[in-house]
Amino acid sequence: MRSLPIRIWHELQSAVATLSDEAPFRHVLAVILIWIRNNDKYLAGEPFSVYGFDRIAKIDERVIPVEYSSFEVSDLINFKNVILKRQAKDVEAIARFLRDTVEELATVEVDEQCPKCESEGMRVFIGRHNGLLAYQCNVCGYSQYSDGSRVASGGLEFASERQLREIGLI
Ligand SMILES: [Zn+2]
Repeated sequence: MRSLPIRIWHELQSAVATLSDEAPFRHVLAVILIWIRNNDKYLAGEPFSVYGFDRIAKIDERVIPVEYSSFEVSDLINFKNVILKRQAKDVEAIARFLRDTVEELATVEVDEQCPKCESEGMRVFIGRHNGLLAYQCNVCGYSQYSDGSRVASGGLEFASERQLREIGLI
């Protein structure tokens, strides 16, 4: 895809511009998800499909533990700056940034070290097909189940607050 329709991109920029720096993070997530769901026909192909927008659109945000995520006020200020600065043609950067922001808002972070790049800090997901706890590296994106086995592409989904409580992570 060369560009998003300018009108569609401006829709998200206007919604984001109304967010104050004190906006609850749950509201920030809602603004992104509403825009993605309203415009799914423009977000069906690449690069959005590569970044899992079909999976993101199906998040049940009512069960997502946004209050436990590592997202901070400085992240919100950065989010607003980036969205307002990007242009409709920057589809690759937009897709990646929105995917990263949703993951930051919707997952908790743990002090695990990435076995691949050795960075500290991994995000918690749940295996789509096996329900296993999984970790995804913040830096390189490598992911594995808690037993060390490799995660297949598209194999993870967002953990609910209940699942995280059962595991004892929140
Ligand atoms: Zn890594």
